[in-house]
Amino acid sequence: MTIHNFNAGPAALPASVLQRVREELLDYRGRGMSILEMSHRSKEYEAVNADAEARFKRLAGVGDGWRALFLQGGASLQFAMAPLNLVPPGGHADIVITGAWGEKAHEEASRARASRIAASMKDTGYRRVPRRDEVRVSPGASYVHLTTNETIHGVQWHDLPDLGGVPIVADMSSDIFCRPCGFSRFTLVYAGAQKNLGPSGVTVVLLREEALARETGDVPVILRYSTHLKNSSLYNTPPAFAVYVLGLVLEWIEESGGLPAMQAANQAKAALLYDAIDGSGGFYQGHAEKEARSIMNVTFRLPGAEREEAFLKEAAKEGMIGLAGHRSVGGCRASIYNAVPLASVQALASLMRDFARRG
Ligand SMILES: *Cc1c(COP(=O)(O)O)cnc(C)c1O
Repeated sequence: MTIHNFNAGPAALPASVLQRVREELLDYRGRGMSILEMSHRSKEYEAVNADAEARFKRLAGVGDGWRALFLQGGASLQFAMAPLNLVPPGGHADIVITGAWGEKAHEEASRARASRIAASMKDTGYRRVPRRDEVRVSPGASYVHLTTNETIHGVQWHDLPDLGGVPIVADMSSDIFCRPCGFSRFTLVYAGAQKNLGPSGVTVVLLREEALARETGDVPVILRYSTHLKNSSLYNTPPAFAVYVLGLVLEWIEESGGLPAMQAANQAKAALLYDAIDGSGGFYQGHAEKEARSIMNVTFRLPGAEREEAFLKEAAKEGMIGLAGHRSVGGCRASIYNAVPLASVQALASLMRDFARRG
């Protein structure tokens, strides 16, 4: 049976990338051993690391003065690392909270330094992003933190606000490279790879070097961006295999036509599911307000838990997995990242229409 993988993360990888990994797994490019067994100080791995950084920067459209780091600890570590490095002791960050991940970013920033809420959409049930006039940047904020796509609630920014020159830090874990997005207006962007970039175990941090002018003598060496910059992500043993697969996924994105092609495919996939929701006469209720609907995580409810359970069961029978909503919010969620094929989304949309007709 064909499996249609709608997992939220770790998530689907491009089939061609998995095939390439299989081909190269036992004998990495004629070296007689696996990339899994190689030293991270070898020429081979240094090339993997450098190539992945170059591809990442090329796709992001950033040049000199920018670096991409490959770190461990997940996006969750960045909730603490960003404030430790960018906020001086006694300073604070401003956080825009658009869902569960924004809440976490705020909590960790409060622990690491201090954190103020520039806007919170909690009262709306996390159904939309704030309007510009709802974002209050506080005097002296070292930066404003945004979550460009709230993976659990299925809420995504489509027009990033002009915040008047204050540096912007963004958690892009679940929508990085789903579309062109003007990376140069950010100061620092991070993303766990396991949604849109590759396997779990590596987190990409894209940053402007000039953002690191601050003295970080109070920060443990392993948690300083400057440490990893100086060592080009090879300060200590990196997640070598994950970085290798990430590089293959970036190559796949480039060969598929880059970010504009990703965007077109993602918009077409998302439209299929939102059309199924909107055309169901109210049987399916989308969670996000229309203007904030995510093209990565489509969240919706059926009339009642029983129906939801029956729907998920039928879907599983058709090979569609990963459709249960996050345990904290329930309902259904289809994660349709870059690597999820159109055919999988077509199959789901067709099941949704059929299921709604039968009531
Ligand atoms: C998955 C996710 C995280 C957490 O990532 P980890 O790599 O598990 O730490 C943080 N932010 C967003 C937006 C996510 O989707």
